[in-house]
Amino acid sequence: MNLESIINLDEQYYMNVFGKRIPIVFEKGKGCYLYDSNNKKYLDFISGIAVNSLGHCHKRLTEAIIDQANKLIHTSSLYYIKNQALLAQKLCNKSIFDKAFFCNSGAEAVEGAIKLIRKYFYSKGQNRYEIITLKNAFHGRTLATVTATGKDKYKKPYEPLPRGFKNIEKDIEIIKNSINENTAAIMIELVQGEGGVNVLDKSFVKDIENICRENNILFVIDEVQTGIGRCGSLFAYELYDISPDIITLAKGLGGGIPIGAVLCKEDVAAFEPGDHGSTFGGNPFATRIALEVLNVIEEEDLLTNVNNIGKLFLEGLKDIKNKITSIVDVRGLGLLIGVEFKSNVKELNLLLAQNGLLASMSGEGNVIRFAPPLIVNEEAINEALNIFENVVRHYENVGGFNK
Ligand SMILES: *Cc1c(COP(=O)(O)O)cnc(C)c1O
Repeated sequence: MNLESIINLDEQYYMNVFGKRIPIVFEKGKGCYLYDSNNKKYLDFISGIAVNSLGHCHKRLTEAIIDQANKLIHTSSLYYIKNQALLAQKLCNKSIFDKAFFCNSGAEAVEGAIKLIRKYFYSKGQNRYEIITLKNAFHGRTLATVTATGKDKYKKPYEPLPRGFKNIEKDIEIIKNSINENTAAIMIELVQGEGGVNVLDKSFVKDIENICRENNILFVIDEVQTGIGRCGSLFAYELYDISPDIITLAKGLGGGIPIGAVLCKEDVAAFEPGDHGSTFGGNPFATRIALEVLNVIEEEDLLTNVNNIGKLFLEGLKDIKNKITSIVDVRGLGLLIGVEFKSNVKELNLLLAQNGLLASMSGEGNVIRFAPPLIVNEEAINEALNIFENVVRHYENVGGFNK
């Protein structure tokens, strides 16, 4: 099947929620590289949006997938599941949390966190249900998580939306003033990935934590994108010197196999039998793969790699910024990096892809986001910097940024 016939089939049968996609169909991948149907090679610097943490077809991940598929894929949670228990133990041992719940995506993890927040105050007999989130936040696409998201255009078609969410400016006084007797939690991302790779200030985040403690409300970090090594520590909260009550995980956790998680501290673990559930969540297959992802991150010392290589990449991009006036800002944490331009980057992003460098647009459409696999090496970084500089320079020269 050629590219054109695949696009035609898609247009006829697939609901067009993604608009015009980048017209490439990938056939296979290895490490940081993807290959299309003509065997053209691409540097994958977006990793399926921060998902393929170990790159493509990592030997140990592939072997774990085959091994587990040969043993057992799914049993339901009517029975005890060894890998589920082991993964819960591992995530708790490597964090400040005591309990885990597993689901299948980021939105589901955030949805689970929202339910947990409400159940926590319900069982205390307190009428606290409102959750404060920030402008430019992204928390998912279910009814509740899209309401928590800071973008009106995602919400408008779905009214009436669930009550109990307040989306406000990144201003500590405004946050403080928006707390009332019904406030239950403040939920934030430490780096707003979809919102434009906005790295929150350490002191701002610390102030938010203090507001939560002073008001006896929960402090929740959505680590769906920042977690599992992406920012240079296993969880990004570790870099902020904070102690949240709940975090959510998904994207990088399964290395491409769908799995999400909610982690919380013992005193917040308010779910009781019947309160929540999931048919697929935490099945023997997904949890085995997530365990392997965590083992590889540990045994291959990938966090050190993320820090070293992330620094190299960030510095390389900053050097390019100094030479190219259309670049407004370069920012990031670990291997989650954004380059902000003075105008829309949709065409530029397509041009980058056509020249063999895969990234994504984020923010208001003026940010190129990079999230390479955690296994990326110096050679791939230099190759990416080279392509990026050449393509951006060319695009600037032909007046692309003035359109
Ligand atoms: C991607 C993302 C989500 C939603 O995850 P899905 O798996 O697409 O449902 C939620 N929160 C954050 C911070 C994300 O980056």
